[in-house]
Formats: sequence, C-alpha cells, structure tokens
Amino acid sequence: MSFESLGLSPALLRALADNAYTTPTPIQAEAIPLVLAGHDVLGGAQTGTGKTAAFGLPLLQRLSEGNKPAAGPRKPRALILVPTRELAVQVADSLRSYSKYIRLNVTTIFGGAGMGPQVDNLRRGVDILVATPGRLIDHMQQGSAKLDGVEVLILDEADRMLDMGFLPAIKRILARVPADRQTLLFSATFEAQIKQLALEFMRDPRQVQV
Ligand code: AMP
Repeated sequence: MSFESLGLSPALLRALADNAYTTPTPIQAEAIPLVLAGHDVLGGAQTGTGKTAAFGLPLLQRLSEGNKPAAGPRKPRALILVPTRELAVQVADSLRSYSKYIRLNVTTIFGGAGMGPQVDNLRRGVDILVATPGRLIDHMQQGSAKLDGVEVLILDEADRMLDMGFLPAIKRILARVPADRQTLLFSATFEAQIKQLALEFMRDPRQVQV
C-alpha cells in the first residue's frame, strides 16, 4: 500500500515525501479513499494513529481541486473543531506541512488568547479554520467568523469535546454550517451521545475503525 495508490495529488505526495511519510497508517489507508469519494466518515481512532493526515490529506486535495479565486476575503471552506488549544495548533501545523505545495490558508482560533489578532486573521481570508467550540461561538456572535461557505466539517476527538461540555456549543455551530456538506467525525470512544450526534448530523456515514 502506498500514498500514490490512494489517489493523492502530486503536490501532496511531494509534501509527504518531504515529511518522510512512506506508508499510510491503517486509518489513512481506510479513510482517505472514502473521504476522497465524498462520503461522511465516522472514524474510531486514538491520537498517534495518524488520524490528522487521514482527514487532512483528502481534505486538502478536495479543497485544492475546487480552488477558485474569490473576490474579497475568503470565507472558510473547511471547519475543524477540536477540544483544546494544543490540538488546534498541532492540527494546523500538520495541515500546513502537508499543504506546503498548495496555496491554502490555515487559521486557528482558540480561547485563552486575545480576540483581536484572531479577528485580523479571519478578515485576511481563510480556507481552513481550526477552532475550539467556545471561542468559535464568540467569533460567530460578533460576526467575525462566517460559516455559510463551509463544505467540509470535521469533529476531531469528539468524545473529548463532549467530556469538556462542548455539546451545546457544537450544536449551535452545526446549525450555522450548510446542511449540504461533508462531515467527518473522529473519536477514540463511541458513547451513546456520540452515536446520537452522528445520527443527527451525518449522512449515511461510512465507519472506519483502527
Ligand atoms: P496523529 O495521530 O495524527 O496525531 O499522528 C501521530 C504522528 O504520526 C504524527 O507525528 C505524524 O506526523 C505521524 N504520522 C502520521 N502519519 C504518518 C505516516 N503515514 N508515516 C509516518 N508518520 C506518520
């Protein structure tokens, strides 16, 4: 199994070679073709399994294929919700390294940091927004984050987000993202609440478990 055989573009393959990734991990081998085919995906995976690239690589490929020069600042086409500031930074760093030969902007917003610089970054135009739910709600309320252009929504470490009490915030965010989108949900565990979330907000999800 190789990244080439998963259908990734030359620009992504070059970045993977630079990162010394030679072989897809099991979750990457299973999830990448499903995401590229446009399916919603429910992924059971712990950190350390390579789940960031499992959703990040097909996401970048999809966005770079439909990359149209926009008039005015670009609104996010992908939203990645994460439980913590640390994970936001880590996911954004990984996406930036995978997208080094693609022109896409990755922006992070999280609590515990000033709103001002985040608002400035959002104004400059964003393709992929990585956010913690509480701070995203703050930006939605003051009009600095617009979610009506989101084509792909990703919930990363969904079980940890629910443990931290983010369910009401997640539901408010989901209500503002277009219904006609691709949704990917990754979680280490699948409690009843996660299954309910998937039932309510995903369309015919394919399951991937590693
Ligand atoms: P993650 O589970 O996404 O946090 O990834 C765990 C670690 O594995 C990160 O340091 C990645 O850079 C690394 N990694 C992910 N996929 C691969 C791969 N296919 N080959 C080598 N390293 C990888």
